[in-house]
Amino acid sequence: MPDRILLRDGTVLTMEPGSRPRRADILVEDGLIAAIEPDLSGVDADVVDAGRCIVLPGMVDTHRHVWQTQLRGVTHDWSLKDYIRAIRFQSAVFYRPQDMYAGNYLGMLEAIDAGVTTVLDFSHCVNTPEHAAAALQGTRDSGIRSVFALGLNDVPVPHPHFATLAARIEHARELRAKELSSDQGLVTMGISLSDVLVAGIGRVTEEVAVSRELGLRITLHANAVMFPQPVSEVAFLDEAGLLGPDLVWVHMNQTTDDELRRVVETGGAISTTPETEMQMGMGHPAHGRFMAVGGKCTFGCDVISNNSGDLFPQVRLALQTERMLRNDLDLARNHGPDDIRPSTLSHLEGATINGAEALGLASRIGTLTPGKEADIIVVRGDAPNMLPVNDPVAAVVMHAHAGNVDTVMVAGRILKRDGRLLADPARRLALMDDSHGYLMDEVRRHGGLIPQPPVPLPW
Ligand SMILES: [Zn+2]
Repeated sequence: MPDRILLRDGTVLTMEPGSRPRRADILVEDGLIAAIEPDLSGVDADVVDAGRCIVLPGMVDTHRHVWQTQLRGVTHDWSLKDYIRAIRFQSAVFYRPQDMYAGNYLGMLEAIDAGVTTVLDFSHCVNTPEHAAAALQGTRDSGIRSVFALGLNDVPVPHPHFATLAARIEHARELRAKELSSDQGLVTMGISLSDVLVAGIGRVTEEVAVSRELGLRITLHANAVMFPQPVSEVAFLDEAGLLGPDLVWVHMNQTTDDELRRVVETGGAISTTPETEMQMGMGHPAHGRFMAVGGKCTFGCDVISNNSGDLFPQVRLALQTERMLRNDLDLARNHGPDDIRPSTLSHLEGATINGAEALGLASRIGTLTPGKEADIIVVRGDAPNMLPVNDPVAAVVMHAHAGNVDTVMVAGRILKRDGRLLADPARRLALMDDSHGYLMDEVRRHGGLIPQPPVPLPW
């Protein structure tokens, strides 16, 4: 008998263009969405009661450093410079392969718990091939869908396994040839570029060339740092002739409108991570200006070492910040705003179909469409913070949080049900305690997260 799940009687947001919320049943068969109809109650299937719930595509996080899960909250009052010293230049050095496993496994469970079914994992703590393998295994064991964006950056370990970029490229080629050769699996391969500011445009040009040769989605931090004027990775890459539709640009706060137009013209996507950008002095989130020149918004949580790994508040924060910026233009003319934009719907698209497009996965996920893979979430509408559901889009964008996510399914496999993750809670705790204990001991042995004098930065 085929593997069938029936989501009964939900309010369905398919997120297809122009679609309206509607009461429907969704039949999932062998991992795919088989049918969306008003009444499929006669079908023999495992039934999930979605009555009084909102059913929508699983959300897509387009920028997260999942390995950092054990460092939750340690940089909550810190600047970008302190974050780079404490996390990128110090904690990353201490990570062992088993810490990469724990970070990815537990971080992906956190994402799943909050209704995220796909993560672009910017994995920039690849100190050895075993680190990459362990991160990948953690991701696979969680059951989530992910683009594993292998970091080509150096980590300042005392005795590097990868002594040269050539060694990292060889490792990337091997991964692509063997473990991540398929673009149809649940976990596919991408590349995270070195920071241009640290590595230089010469090295980054080489990294882009090899990523393209291997046919991989590419992501990079861009246009978010002062050195001492705004640094433009877009301008560097444009000058080198490297812009293209395979690039996911992260942050982009300091990007000019002309540069944003260049990204749109060349088919690139951007990821906005409002909490980190606002805390760390990167500037105003750029997604509104990107939308104004014809681009589409997508969102990420970025670093759990700062802020929440729940994508709902990120989307809400991005929306209300953009509204504030637009309203300010009216207020500057002593005029109360007559219309409020952007819409809640535009940002729910950002968290679903736009994210899928940015990752090159829109033919497989991002909308609830028969034939697509069944990445679906069920959000309870009967919780105190959700009742009454006057508008299901507004309910999800403005009111929902991770605790309202009742059911999460990735490619037809249920990973959270009745509000509970199915992964073994005792194993989760043990993994966290082991890895967190080791990492914090190492940090203490080395003089704290930011030892004095602090590590010098290249800017
Ligand atoms: Zn980042």
